[in-house]
Amino acid sequence: MTCDKNEIPDSWRSLPAAQQPDWPDRAALEAVLADLASYPPLVVTSECDLLRERLGAVARGESFLLQGGDCAETFAQISADRIRDKVKTLLQMAAVLGYAASVPVVMVGRIAGQYSKPRSKPTETRDGVTLPSYRGDSVNGAEFTPEARVPDPERLKRMYLASAATLNLVRAFTTGGYAGLQQVHAWNQDFVRTSPAGQRYEQLAREIDKGLAFMHASGVDPEEHRSVGFYSSHEALLLDYETALTRLDMQTGTMYDLSAHMLWIGERTRQPDHAHVEFASRIRNPIAVKLGPATSVEELLALIERLDPRREPGRLTFITRMGADKIRDYLPPLIEKVTAEGAPVAWVCDPMHGNTSEAETGHKTRHFDDVLDEVTGFFEVHSMLGTHPGGIHVELTGENVTECVGGGEEVLVDHLPERYETACDPRLNRSQSLDLAFLVAEMYRSR
Ligand code: PEP
Ligand code: MN
Repeated sequence: MTCDKNEIPDSWRSLPAAQQPDWPDRAALEAVLADLASYPPLVVTSECDLLRERLGAVARGESFLLQGGDCAETFAQISADRIRDKVKTLLQMAAVLGYAASVPVVMVGRIAGQYSKPRSKPTETRDGVTLPSYRGDSVNGAEFTPEARVPDPERLKRMYLASAATLNLVRAFTTGGYAGLQQVHAWNQDFVRTSPAGQRYEQLAREIDKGLAFMHASGVDPEEHRSVGFYSSHEALLLDYETALTRLDMQTGTMYDLSAHMLWIGERTRQPDHAHVEFASRIRNPIAVKLGPATSVEELLALIERLDPRREPGRLTFITRMGADKIRDYLPPLIEKVTAEGAPVAWVCDPMHGNTSEAETGHKTRHFDDVLDEVTGFFEVHSMLGTHPGGIHVELTGENVTECVGGGEEVLVDHLPERYETACDPRLNRSQSLDLAFLVAEMYRSR
């Protein structure tokens, strides 16, 4: 079978596609897309298949998904140190979850492609001046000038290159001997010993230590147990870009979007009969869909029909982002219906996007207590229904930014201006992320 143009998934083009940029120069866009279609893929099909299998274990209640990274990656913020610190934070969280909760952890970064942002409003007004909204570095610039805000298709190429460079380093850090399990535990012990946030988890850290020592003594290689890989993911928002990175797998005759291992559809583009769902229905990657509080049972069933007609565990993940005040009321009917249908989806909690508020300083922020409360509600609901709390999806960074308030090493509202560096939504910093991992591990253990 050959990969001619007709086989590339274009069926979405006849459907409404929300959140697509208004490219001023169509010919320039087409030229960029043709180049992208000729470039090597960023990931390979067998990795996508492996991740689908691992997410199948999440859906069956045998593994836990840790998905996290920036709200929006930016070209300016790509550096070896930042990538390393993010990977390090995710590795530490995965080790805490894996060994304190005794569950295999599937690690998926919001990384190496998370450059496109859906916006609530198409324009932004400052001091009486209105300009097109910033849509992510893949589309336009964040500076508030008319020039920067014009969509530029060359940015799609930069996204590809930035993703490739990032993924290369992520793969090196996760497989090249940088972070063996002992090393990751040493970092965690350091967090527990030296930070006020970590001191509360001394008991848990000691237990992890004992568990590891026991494994060693019994001749079991804990490294093997942990080896669940590191995968990339981003929101499949710009369908032109995703289509250009889609390739036909000659062996199976199916298509894969090889811009990342896993793609998700956002809350604003998940209409079952629109373009984003149509695109996702044509590719074989594991797919996630974000579900906000307005999700109806009918929409949910339509999404399952469109995206997982074969009811394959690992194919479809639902990431709920209800808000701490809503999750306990809104989630149960959705889970009950899906369970009654026998659909083997993985349920994952995004405790970030339903808990955003504006601080007195004018910063968009999130309270650590609300984040924790939404995860707590998620666990409560699953425990009530006898279903599996499959994972968490969080916006985080490995640095000590001050974007979310609260946490054991408390960030106060007054601290927000000190290191507020996100290009979009507020992220948990390193200490808040580890704090959350220990707390979630405790919840998972005491289910
Ligand atoms: C996001 O993940 O950054 C996002 C915009 O989420 P949602 O689609 O759930 O609003
Ligand atoms: Mn976000």
